[in-house]
Amino acid sequence: MDIGPERPVCVRCVLPHSPPDITLDADGVCSVCRREEARRARGGEAPLLETDFLRLLQKYRGKTPHDCLVMCSGGKDSTAALYYMKRRYRMNPLAFMFDHGFEQKDAIDNVRRAVEALGVDLLFYRTDAVRGLFRRMVETGTKAVICHLCSIWYLTLTFEMAARFDIPLIIAGWTQGQSSRPGMMTKCACNVDAPEYQSMTVATREFLAGLRDDPLYRDFPTTVEEVVARARKRHHAVVMSPHWFLEQAAEDYVAIIQRELGWRPPAESYPAGSTNCDMNFLSVWNSMRWHGYTHYHVEMARMVRQGLMSREEALRRLRINFGDEKLQQVADRLGIRLREADRGG
Ligand SMILES: [Zn+2]
Repeated sequence: MDIGPERPVCVRCVLPHSPPDITLDADGVCSVCRREEARRARGGEAPLLETDFLRLLQKYRGKTPHDCLVMCSGGKDSTAALYYMKRRYRMNPLAFMFDHGFEQKDAIDNVRRAVEALGVDLLFYRTDAVRGLFRRMVETGTKAVICHLCSIWYLTLTFEMAARFDIPLIIAGWTQGQSSRPGMMTKCACNVDAPEYQSMTVATREFLAGLRDDPLYRDFPTTVEEVVARARKRHHAVVMSPHWFLEQAAEDYVAIIQRELGWRPPAESYPAGSTNCDMNFLSVWNSMRWHGYTHYHVEMARMVRQGLMSREEALRRLRINFGDEKLQQVADRLGIRLREADRGG
C-alpha cells in the first residue's frame, strides 16, 4: 500500500512535517504546537465544567417526549455519551444510528445492546444515499477527505431527525480532541477551520464544487457551517458532547460500558482501539497518500497537547494496521477495482 514517503514527526505531538499547513522547526516542534504554546502563554481558555453542562441540560430535561437525540456509532465515546445522558443526567434520549451500508456489524450490535440495557428508544436509519458519492470520490482519486464529506452528510441527516422528532438537543460522542474549542457548541468533530486542516478543507470544497452540475448533489452543503446555518432555518437544535465537560479518561468509561452495556471493541478498526465504518479505511489511505496524515492525527495531537493521551500511545494507535487486501474488500463493495498504481502494487 502506497501511503507516500516517511515524514519527520513533531517531537511533542504526532503531526508530521506537511508544508504548508504543518512545518517542523529546528527543535523538531511543529507549527501547531508552537501556536498552542503561544496561546497558553496568553492565558488560554478556561476549561468547561460539568456544572456548565448540568445548567444547560436543565433547560431541556423533560420538555419534549425525547429531550435529546444521541448520535450513536457503536464506538466507545458515543456509547459512553448515551450512557451518561440516560444514567448520569437522567435525560430521555432517542438513540440515533445511521448506516450508509459500511457500518460494521460489531458496531451495530454494540448500539443494539446498549439501548436494550438502558431501555432507550432507537432510531435506525439505513440508506444507500451516499454510496454513489463514495464511489465517485475513490474513482476520481480526489484529495478531499471522505470522512469529512460523510460528516457533512450525516450532520444534515441528524438535524433533519432532530427537527422531525422535535428534539432541541443533539448529543455527540466527540472527545476534547475532536473540537479545537469545545465551547463552540455547533462545531462538528472536524472543525476544519484549523490551520492543520487547510489543504484538506480546500480539497473537499473543490471536490464539492465539482459536483454542482450533478442534479443528485447540487444541494449538497459544502461545509459543516452551511449544514448548521440551513438547519437553523427549520428547527433550532444545539449540538454538544458530554466529553467536553468531563475529565474522565477513555479507559474509565470503557470499563463502565463494558460492564453495564456489554460493549465490545470491534475486531478491526483504524486507529487501533477505535470504532469506525469500513469506508474509513479508504478515507485514511487517501488522506495518508495525499496529505501525509489523517484527521485522527489532528485529533490525537490535540489530546496529547491537552495531556489526555501520551504521545507514545497516540503513535501506537496511529500506526497503519491494514493493507491492500482490506482496501480492495471495501472497494469491491463500491463496485470498483483499485488501480495497482494507486495501491503501490
Ligand atoms: Zn506538534
